[in-house]
Amino acid sequence: MLLQIHEPNQSPEPHAKPKGMAVGIDLGTTHSLIAIHENGAVRVITDKEGRRLHPSAVSYHDGKATVGHAAFNTTEHVITSAKRLMGRGTTAIDPVAVSTDILRYLKALAETDLKQPIAQAVITVPAYFDDAARSATKHAAEQAGFEILRLLNEPTAAALAYGLDNNTEGLYAIYDLGGGTFDISVLRFERGVFQVIATGGDTALGGDDLDAAIATSFLAHVHYTETLSQKDHQRLLQAARLVKENLSTQPSADMTLYLPPRDCSHRFMREDVEKLCLPFVERTLTHLKNVLQQAGVVSVDGIVLVGGATRMPLVRQKVEEFFGKAPLVNLNPDEVVAIGAALQADALTNGSDTLLLDVTPLSLGLETMGGLVEKIIYRNSPIPLAKAQEFTTYQDGQTAMSIHVLQGEREEARHCRSLAKFDLQEIPPLPAGAARILVTFTVDADGLLTVSAKEQTTGKSQRVEVKPTFGIAMEEMAQMLYESLEHGQQDMSERILIEARVEGQRVLEALKSALHKDSYLLEKSECSLIIEQETALKTAIAGTSRDAIHNAMEALEKACAPFVERRVNAAIQSALAGKKINDPDLEKMIHNALEPVQNLVSPPAKMLGF
Ligand code: ADP
Ligand code: MG
Repeated sequence: MLLQIHEPNQSPEPHAKPKGMAVGIDLGTTHSLIAIHENGAVRVITDKEGRRLHPSAVSYHDGKATVGHAAFNTTEHVITSAKRLMGRGTTAIDPVAVSTDILRYLKALAETDLKQPIAQAVITVPAYFDDAARSATKHAAEQAGFEILRLLNEPTAAALAYGLDNNTEGLYAIYDLGGGTFDISVLRFERGVFQVIATGGDTALGGDDLDAAIATSFLAHVHYTETLSQKDHQRLLQAARLVKENLSTQPSADMTLYLPPRDCSHRFMREDVEKLCLPFVERTLTHLKNVLQQAGVVSVDGIVLVGGATRMPLVRQKVEEFFGKAPLVNLNPDEVVAIGAALQADALTNGSDTLLLDVTPLSLGLETMGGLVEKIIYRNSPIPLAKAQEFTTYQDGQTAMSIHVLQGEREEARHCRSLAKFDLQEIPPLPAGAARILVTFTVDADGLLTVSAKEQTTGKSQRVEVKPTFGIAMEEMAQMLYESLEHGQQDMSERILIEARVEGQRVLEALKSALHKDSYLLEKSECSLIIEQETALKTAIAGTSRDAIHNAMEALEKACAPFVERRVNAAIQSALAGKKINDPDLEKMIHNALEPVQNLVSPPAKMLGF
């Protein structure tokens, strides 16, 4: 993620670097590109055959990696789409190692082309890559010998490529349809600041789906019903892809393929293939609508098309219809991200006054009593940022607290992703709700999270950096977002019920300890009324009505009113015994005396158990 705040004519902090050549890299799921800003323009670096896009494919033979186009021509097993696994713990394939090999290959291409060693780079990542996936990307780049100037969000890179940062202020939609993924982002450009205000999409929707649909249609047209070997199936998809790509510029395309035991052939017309593709394009529009709605955006000032699949006239037409405005298409859609990365690399090494801001892709929070999640940093918050919130203990004398860091949009911890868990020990034993623990979440400019917890009276503190040990795949990330939208209402009502139960339980605990200590202050009749209401509250908590719990708590509170008053008086009297009325510490003493008896009435901060 990026934050580049510096004044014009000043060296860019905190990433000040000596001048030199820095490249921009689009590390794509299907293709990767490397570009350089030189002599006032960006140039995409080619291989010796003049190819600008390099398949993100690696094959291994005798421990040696073959990357890009050459990987397809080997007989070895080819690994593709490793990006989908970034930040996820896997056993079969190490996505970091595969990405490292791709980056090494790109680095060598640039060094051959520029005839000098290249180390500094800006690498792009999807806007919704989480901290684990970002760390994994950074790690891969370091392994490949790069020094990362910045991880840049892909949609932001596309916006930079179009020079939208030179435009007037406005809202921009970035529509990115690649090989296997569809990403939609809304950027706001305001007072020199770029901000990703919403992201969404589908991690299993892209050009590959269209290839598969064309392939299926081909088999039907040629009446082919045999089972295909994996290799033939692969050839079939490749041929279908070629048809799809040719139809972007031609009205028809022939597909001829030997499928054992015969040659099969069919002529595809563009209209027919567009019919096949329409449902997929319409799915992108549904996502588009959702993201705009979520961002509260009704119209945009510009639309940027990114990704090879947006070369299709059908896609352009549908997007234009949707917005009632023609998208920007004068740059190659499969090169815009790399171009933006190269511009940013240049800005970071040679200075620029562009200010870029990014957001957190998912909300970050803590597990509180009842298995609920208290969000500390909300999804789409601009980073870097730090936010703190006070928490307290659930039980009298609780001396340790479990800090469980979660990521996600759902209301219950079990539906969110667990990022880290640690204990804060040696909390001074105090009545429930009296201890004050300040928990701070810090997200740095690269989107990495650090959580610290500090007990306010002793100053005892603990911190963890959330390490990218077992991240999640993009699919899972998007899934979490969709589920949260789907379950929003139900989650909310469940949360309200659980909160009422937790609060009811807390009151019961507090009452139990108050009765244990001070029941001598009560008349027999008062005592039996309290016990009656206590039983009613227990029954309500066992039920599923939040209102019933609230009503029972109110009734119990009413029954306890004289008890609370007498306890407060008794506490003050004993605190004041033998003290002078002008004692400077009087106020503090009263406060301290009241703390243990007040938790029956005033609900404390959110509670963390142990
Ligand atoms: P990624 O960002 O996932 O690496 P790309 O932006 O390189 O992906 O897009 C790859 C997809 O674009 C593939 O499905 C490819 O077939 C498709 N594509 C490339 N050129 C064209 C074209 N001229 N017409 C239609 N689709 C195209
Ligand atoms: Mg891409």
